[in-house]
Amino acid sequence: MSFIELKNVCKQYANTNKKAVTDFNLKIDEKEFIAFVGPSGCGKSTTLRMIAGFEDITSGELYIDGKKMNEVAPRDRGISMVFQNYALYPHMTVEKNISYGLKNMKVPADEIKRKVDWAIEILGLSEYRYRKPKNLSGGQRQRVALGRAIVKDQKVFLMDEPLSNLDAKLRVSMRNEISKLHRNLGSTTIYVTHDQVEAMTMADRIVIMKDGIVQQIGKPMELYEYPVNKFVAGFIGSPQMNFYNVKVDGNKISFTDGNSMVLNDEMADKLRNYKEVILGIRGEDIKFDPQNLDIFKENKQRAVIDNTEIMGNENNLYFEFGGSSSVARVSKYEVSDVGEEIEFVFVPHRMHFFDKVTEDAITLWESSKADWEYLLDNSRNEVFMDKLKKANDYIEKN
Ligand code: ADP
Repeated sequence: MSFIELKNVCKQYANTNKKAVTDFNLKIDEKEFIAFVGPSGCGKSTTLRMIAGFEDITSGELYIDGKKMNEVAPRDRGISMVFQNYALYPHMTVEKNISYGLKNMKVPADEIKRKVDWAIEILGLSEYRYRKPKNLSGGQRQRVALGRAIVKDQKVFLMDEPLSNLDAKLRVSMRNEISKLHRNLGSTTIYVTHDQVEAMTMADRIVIMKDGIVQQIGKPMELYEYPVNKFVAGFIGSPQMNFYNVKVDGNKISFTDGNSMVLNDEMADKLRNYKEVILGIRGEDIKFDPQNLDIFKENKQRAVIDNTEIMGNENNLYFEFGGSSSVARVSKYEVSDVGEEIEFVFVPHRMHFFDKVTEDAITLWESSKADWEYLLDNSRNEVFMDKLKKANDYIEKN
């Protein structure tokens, strides 16, 4: 049995006519690190707060460790929570801030000392032990907030955008610290973020939401490689996946600017019931190197670079193509200048196709057998499995 389970959980706030969260279903194993990700207002915090018990569940069920929690008070749910605003007591030292909650829980003094010593050590706060929050950096304060949460020895950690008040560099190092802490403590963690990079780098599995509805649940690379719809494809990955409206005509797709590409037989077959689709391709799957240009030479395209971003480890090249501003990610050795004409190809088996109306992925259903088997092995991805099943039925019927 899973450690945390949400069954058809819905939330409708009083005085609103729209659900903030609709039919949220998820099973979380013990020790898993789950990230809820999605744009602002998609229902991530509401879901987390329902798990914490700070918000009532309008309908549906929540189980933690086999026990139904809908009516259980927050303090009896076995959770500790870390917020974006770490809300430390300004007049208390680091040590006192960390121990405060334990004192309230009537933990014996020697045990408090042992736990606080341990937290201070594990979070690298030894030299700040007697400082007050105003004399700490943002990262140090957030570590104190983490310390306060970990000493409570709870089995579940809930974190709501804990790093969003920190600067970019500190976010990266704290991301790393939280991942390590999670590995050391082995507590089940749910982490809310609007930042797909945090979700990708930290989570065992990601739940991606839009408008209160779960779009896809899966391992980071699963979402990256097999997005179930255009929203997921566009949300995960930076720079964003390139999208084009294309017309399908037999084994040819044409772009709005008149350019066209030839599809291989397998793809043409996949798209045979469509007249227009959305083509998606990630920047790293647009290739400029002679080898790829040679292999896919019948689909060679031309464009003029109109901007470049030198990232150090790699470069982003921007150009107009297919009626959209496009971006390719190339290695740091493949430098091109603004104004330079380039030749490139889209790697055929890396193209994603989406239904123009529903924006659901098309290629997914009939991807290669190896991919199918991989996905079938990952049967915990329930949204995906449901779609896969529908697709299977569809293919069988047709
Ligand atoms: P996220 O955490 O993804 O940014 P939230 O869970 O905070 O999203 O919000 C989801 C939706 O619920 C939004 O439309 C938001 O405006 C609404 N909402 C959040 N809190 C309340 C509230 N207390 N009363 C009414 N509506 C709310």
